[in-house]
Amino acid sequence: MKDNYYKEVWAKCLDIIKDNIDKDAFDTWFKPLQAISLKDDTLTIKVPSVFFYEWIEANFIKILRAAVRKVIGPNARLLYTAQLDGNNEPTFPSNNKDVTVNPPKRVPMVVERNNHNDTINPFVIPGIQPLHIDSQLNENYSFDNFIEGSCNQLARSAGYAVAQNPGKTAFNPFFIYSNVGLGKTHLAHAIGLETKRLHPEKTVLYVSADQFFQQFADAVKHGTVNNFLQFYQMAIDVLIIDDIQFMKRESVQNIFFQIFNGLHQAGKQIIVTSDKAPSEIVGLEQRILSRLKWGLNAELQVPDLDTRIKIIKKKLFNEGGITMPEEVIEYLAYSVNTSIRELEGALISLVAQSSLSRQEITIDLARQIVDRFVKSNTREITVEYIQKVVCGYFNISVETMLSKSRKVNVVTARHISMYLSRKLTKEPLVSIGQKCGKKDHATVLHACKVVSNIMDVDKSFKKDLELLEKKIKD
Ligand code: ADP
Ligand code: MG
Repeated sequence: MKDNYYKEVWAKCLDIIKDNIDKDAFDTWFKPLQAISLKDDTLTIKVPSVFFYEWIEANFIKILRAAVRKVIGPNARLLYTAQLDGNNEPTFPSNNKDVTVNPPKRVPMVVERNNHNDTINPFVIPGIQPLHIDSQLNENYSFDNFIEGSCNQLARSAGYAVAQNPGKTAFNPFFIYSNVGLGKTHLAHAIGLETKRLHPEKTVLYVSADQFFQQFADAVKHGTVNNFLQFYQMAIDVLIIDDIQFMKRESVQNIFFQIFNGLHQAGKQIIVTSDKAPSEIVGLEQRILSRLKWGLNAELQVPDLDTRIKIIKKKLFNEGGITMPEEVIEYLAYSVNTSIRELEGALISLVAQSSLSRQEITIDLARQIVDRFVKSNTREITVEYIQKVVCGYFNISVETMLSKSRKVNVVTARHISMYLSRKLTKEPLVSIGQKCGKKDHATVLHACKVVSNIMDVDKSFKKDLELLEKKIKD
C-alpha cells in the first residue's frame, strides 16, 4: 500500500462531500481538515480546533459518515485529532464557570475524538475566518429608509455611530426601546446593514430573543450548549438581540449573561431592543438589567405629523413611485398616529383597495380604510356612540330616546344605552345620566339593574345585548 494512500482516500471522501453540501460550507469546514493516517479502516483527520470537530459533528455527520463508509467500507471509523500549532494563549476568557455546559455530542458509530492529543485549547479557533454566517438582516430596513425625525434623532445618530465603530463607542451595549411599531427592529437592522457595508470583515448577527431561546433549547436537547456558547462568543462581532423582554427563562438569561460578558470584554458590539426601558422590564434578572444600563438607552417616540408624512412619501416612493393626492397623505398621517406599523398597514390597504376596485385614491376611500384600521385600537367608545348604535338597533332616533317617551321600546333602548355606557366607558354615572336625557345617577343605576335582571331570565334578550355590545366594540 502506498505511503500516502490515506490522502487519496480522504480526497475521495472530500469529493463526495463536496457534491453534497454548498461550496461556502465546504470551503469553511472541510478545506481546513487534513488526513493524518489510515489504519485498519480507521481514518484519522486533523481538525483546527475542538470547536471545528463539534460543528462538523453537529452539522455534517450524515454526509461525512456516508462518504467514509462508501470509500473505506462498512467498518470505516473516523478519528479526530485536534492539535493546535504553536502555543496559543486563549484569545477569549472563559465565562462559563457558573453555567452547566453539557459535553459535546458524540456519534460513537463513526466518530471518536482522539483523547491523547496535546494542547486542545477550546478558546482559540484558528483558520475559522471568514465564517459564513447568515446575518439575518433585511435589506429594506436600511438607514436610507429610516426617516429621521425628532422622535428618533438620538437613537438614529447613536446607531449610526455604532455602525461606524462597532464596539468602540460608548454606546455598548446600545439599547433601543419603544412601544410596538415605532422602528426598533428597523433601526437595529439598519445598524447591522451599515456595519456590514463599512466593515465587510465583521460578522453581524441579528436574532430575536425568541430565536435565541429556540437555538439554546435545541442546544440543550442535543447536548451542544458548548457549541452554542462558543459560536456566540467567538464568531460574532456585532450581536443584535431583538425584543429582549421575551427572554423570560432563567436558563437562557444565564447563557445570555455569559455571552454578553464575553462579547463585551472582547470589545464586540451588542445591540438590544425592548418594549420598555431597562428599569421597567419585568422578569429579566437584575444583573442583566444593570449590564444593559452600561451603554446608551435610546427611546423611539411616536413621530410627529411631519415625520409621518415623510414616512408615507418614502414608502410610496419605494413602492415604485405610486402617486397619491397630498390631502390624502395628510389625512392618513393625521389619522393614524400611534404606530408606524399601523400607518404602513393603512397605506398598503388603501393602495390595494384602490387598485383592486379600480377606484381613485380619494379622501373618502382613505376614510373607509382608516375607520377599519384605527377603530379597534385607538377609537374610544363614547356614550354618544353607544346611543347611536343602540337606537339604530331599535330603529328609533336618538332624539326619541332622549325624550320623555314611555313607550316600551324607547324605555328599553334608554335602559340599554345606560347599561352599556356604564359597562363600556369610563364615564361616571352622573355624566352618563346627563347624556341620557338629564337623568340622575340613581336612575342610571336602576336602569342597569333592570337590564341585568332581564338578562338573567331572558336568554334571547341576553343574546341581543351581546350582539349589540360586539357591534359597538367592532
Ligand atoms: P418595532 O420593532 O418597534 O415594533 P418596526 O421596526 O418593526 O417596529 O417598525 C414597524 C414598521 O415601521 C416597519 O415596516 C418599519 O420599516 C417602519 N418604520 C419604523 N420607523 C420608521 C422610520 N423612522 N422611517 C420609515 N419607516 C419606519
Ligand atoms: Mg420589532
